[in-house]
Amino acid sequence: MAQPATQREILCNLFKSTNPLRTDVLETRRLTSPRRPPNNDARHIVLSSPGLSYLPGQSIGVLPEGFDARSGKPQQLRLYSVSSATKGDYGDSKTVSTVVVRHFWDNEETGETSIPGVCSNYLCDCEVGDRFQITGPVGKRFVLPADFHQRDLIFVATGTGIAPYRGMLEDMFAQGYEGKVFLIFGVQYADTILYDDEFQSYQDRPNFRYITALSREGERNPFPDDVPTPREKMYVQVRIWQHREEIGPSLEKPDTLVYQCGLKGMEKGVFQVIDKIGTEMAEPDLSLRMKAEGRMLLEVY
Ligand SMILES: Cc1cc2nc3c(=O)[nH]c(=O)nc-3n(C[C@H](O)[C@H](O)[C@H](O)COP(=O)(O)OP(=O)(O)OC[C@H]3O[C@@H](n4cnc5c(N)ncnc54)[C@H](O)[C@@H]3O)c2cc1C
Repeated sequence: MAQPATQREILCNLFKSTNPLRTDVLETRRLTSPRRPPNNDARHIVLSSPGLSYLPGQSIGVLPEGFDARSGKPQQLRLYSVSSATKGDYGDSKTVSTVVVRHFWDNEETGETSIPGVCSNYLCDCEVGDRFQITGPVGKRFVLPADFHQRDLIFVATGTGIAPYRGMLEDMFAQGYEGKVFLIFGVQYADTILYDDEFQSYQDRPNFRYITALSREGERNPFPDDVPTPREKMYVQVRIWQHREEIGPSLEKPDTLVYQCGLKGMEKGVFQVIDKIGTEMAEPDLSLRMKAEGRMLLEVY
């Protein structure tokens, strides 16, 4: 019998654009190698958060200073996933952390290239002691259910999509988690893996499996016929297929949850490979069934 997630009480919108929280930057550090170009510059940022309660899997809104050149109105808020555990990085429930990568874009109309995104660059440029305004928390769907303790969990991330899992894993292990958790994490290069040392430190736990997929380190997809990927690069869905003997038994359980967070579009390949594994278990529409049962959680942007 399928076991959908048991909801827990989740607070939302304690601070809104009309009553934002003034926050101080307590810590900011680059997580990726400085040898990498600015679009690989990802920062871990710790903010003071008086009065803000949140759960990993929720996001905060950041209100950048200044005005939108197009509308002339104040800048709109942008969302950033919380990357800290419930008690925050300092364990005192007084901070919230996030991980931000510098965004750049090309304007096809004007031909201008590498235009810095407003809020991500604002955040990545901030220094300890800077103050700005945040809102939140928002999001109810992507958190751990109340009864996560014995469930197997499959966490799939690309890039900054790793944020929620950092906090979730810390909470889970602090609360006596007994299921099996897979963390399958895709980035471009070995020196752009975010929080790698922290995930490595869980490696001696028998119920934690950490698998990375590096798309630009030259490793090719050995299964292009089974799991096609662009230019036969190594992506998370290839790793899932490669490790199907380990992951399959968890997918077969009626209470397992699959979480995906990161680049919009990643979910297509992950659904396909889950269905392919499902086919081997005589369940070709496994991802559809898991979605229908509320066991497939998605946060892509
Ligand atoms: C639920 C959720 C969680 C998220 N979590 C994270 C996270 O943890 N970490 C993270 O780094 N990001 C996260 N994001 C993405 C984040 O919210 C921002 O979208 C991202 O940082 C880019 O914002 P920006 O202000 O830097 O870019 P912007 O300046 O907003 O530019 C974004 C896009 O807007 C368009 N654009 C902007 N200006 C113009 C213009 N003048 N003319 C035409 N087009 C224009 C371009 O297509 C550009 O690519 C999350 C998003 C969501 C929805």
